[in-house]
Amino acid sequence: MKIYDVSMEIHPLMQVWKDRDERRPEFQVTRDYENGQGGRETRVSLDMHTGTHVDAPLHFIEDGLTIDHTSIERLVRNVKVLDLTSVKDRITREDLQHYDIESQDFVLFKTRNSYCDTTFDLNFVFLERTGAEYLVEQQIAGVGTDALGIERSQPQHETHISLLKRDIIIIEGLRLKDVPAGEYFMLAAPLRIVSVEAAPARVVLIDLT
Ligand SMILES: [Zn+2]
Repeated sequence: MKIYDVSMEIHPLMQVWKDRDERRPEFQVTRDYENGQGGRETRVSLDMHTGTHVDAPLHFIEDGLTIDHTSIERLVRNVKVLDLTSVKDRITREDLQHYDIESQDFVLFKTRNSYCDTTFDLNFVFLERTGAEYLVEQQIAGVGTDALGIERSQPQHETHISLLKRDIIIIEGLRLKDVPAGEYFMLAAPLRIVSVEAAPARVVLIDLT
């Protein structure tokens, strides 16, 4: 049995949305051995969309549910990793029609984003509106991507809204470089923070074959 940890490491110099400083996690040591305090404690200030994270409907639906309402049963399950590394710019309906995507599937997109670790690529591969519409038509249960955002250049946020309106789970910031395409058992565990629109998550894929 092989386990792939597909979560990003969280640290002050990690890749954050558009590399904006206000998005960086801040670490503050509040107790330390050096100060004769006989222990170490750290306080971390974190944007909920830092690194690998799960979005809840409230992210783009005004009266949508918060992340504490996404039950863990929906995030511990079989998933399909799709190899989309040949896509240059955006994932469209046409790109997705080549794959076997069925009702209630949870699909993860492996793209060239997984190979970009240190800085934020403004031209990251994203799920374009027609691709999102196709996934809605196929009635999938969830979708994960290896970019920090599932959309870009969409002032109306069509991709986020069409997925979140149907309560389709979105995972962002996966690291899939080492994961071959195929089926896996996923364990995705967002922090159980109440009343927020997303939460950082540890995500692992288990190859049961
Ligand atoms: Zn997000």
